[in-house]
Parts: sequence; structure tokens; C-alpha cells
Amino acid sequence: MSNSVHTTPRRRPKRRGYSLGLLFSLLLTVFLLGFGLGRCTAPAASQPLRDTGAVLPDWVKVDLLPVNDYSRPGLALEQVNGVVVHYVGNAGTTAAQNRNYFASLAETHETHASAHFVIGLDGEVIQCVPLDEMAYCSNDRNADTISIECCHPGEDGAFTDETYHALVELTRYLTSRYGLKREQVIRHYDVTGKLCPLYYVEHPDAWEAFRDEVDS
Ligand SMILES: [Zn+2]
Repeated sequence: MSNSVHTTPRRRPKRRGYSLGLLFSLLLTVFLLGFGLGRCTAPAASQPLRDTGAVLPDWVKVDLLPVNDYSRPGLALEQVNGVVVHYVGNAGTTAAQNRNYFASLAETHETHASAHFVIGLDGEVIQCVPLDEMAYCSNDRNADTISIECCHPGEDGAFTDETYHALVELTRYLTSRYGLKREQVIRHYDVTGKLCPLYYVEHPDAWEAFRDEVDS
């Protein structure tokens, strides 16, 4: 603002300075408003994300993995073009146990695996990897998707009501946050043909009903 004082004519410096200031404020407001609306309604998929994780819903427990080559490589996730749903494939295990298993890979080097979120049998949600970083979960789609692992009580892979409802809420939050459409919510099966999440591969009608509920 102080620069305008030097450039304004002598006659009515205060008035002119005020007008320029007002004009600048208006332009700034219009720019910020436009940018904000653009982010909400149509985020450009190719635009780098600026996620801090600070605005996650309060029902998400943040318990990040240590940065390591086996489960949290610390690589930037520069686009989000989908949400991939998984099942842990280890009946009866809890969200915390699965999170700790991912963390332990930093020491055991057993395999490369992780997920952004794990949903437990009681519907608890643990975040393991920040949203602006890649997780090792969905093969060729690691670089542009958010992954959700779901716990399940039995070998058939069916989710508890609590897990299911938390999955609907979390997926709805993510599709809203990134402006994703129904067809961008996919199963691991849709990426590689792996039977994951098993119940929703064997019951495609239930999968479509889940997508409908997220969409509603
Ligand atoms: Zn999977």
C-alpha cells in the first residue's frame, strides 16, 4: 500500500490512495473467492495437492507410520483420481494391529505394504499415511489414489455394520474433498483382479449399493 503514495498525483493523494487500495482489495477478494470456489467444485486433477492433514474429520485418529522404504516412502502424492477400497484379509484383526503391522515393516523389511487409512471392527478409523503422500496398497494406482483397508470378523470378508458405516462416511468425505465421481470409487479388484475386498468382489450388487450410498 505504501507504494501507492509515491505514484499518486499531488492533488488528492489520500483519496486516490484509498481508491486504489479499495480496488486492490476487491480484486483480491474476487481472486480468492474464485480460487476457493474452483477448489470446491472442480479441483484440477493435475494440480499438486497441498494437504496438511489438518482438516480431517475429528473421528479420524492420526497415527502415522514412521517414514521408511517399506510402508511410508515419503513420496509425494501429486494427484488424487480415486479412492481404492481393500479388506485386510486377516479375519478378526483390529485396526491398530494392522497399522502396527505396517509400521513393523520398517524393521522386518518383509514386504512393501500400507494404506492411508485402516477402518476397524468397531468403525474406528486410523490414518497411517498423510494424504499428500503415497501409500503402498494399490499397485499401479499407488501414485494417484487414496487407499482404505477394512477389517472384517470372518473369512468371507463381510464388514461389520460399524466398519461399513465408517467406510461410507470416510469415502464420502474423500470424494467430496477431491471432487471425485462415483466411478472413481473402486475396489483393489478393479486395479489388479485381486480378490480384494473379497466380499465386494463376490457380491457386486452390494458393492454398487455401497457406491450408491456414498453418492447419496
Ligand atoms: Zn487390497
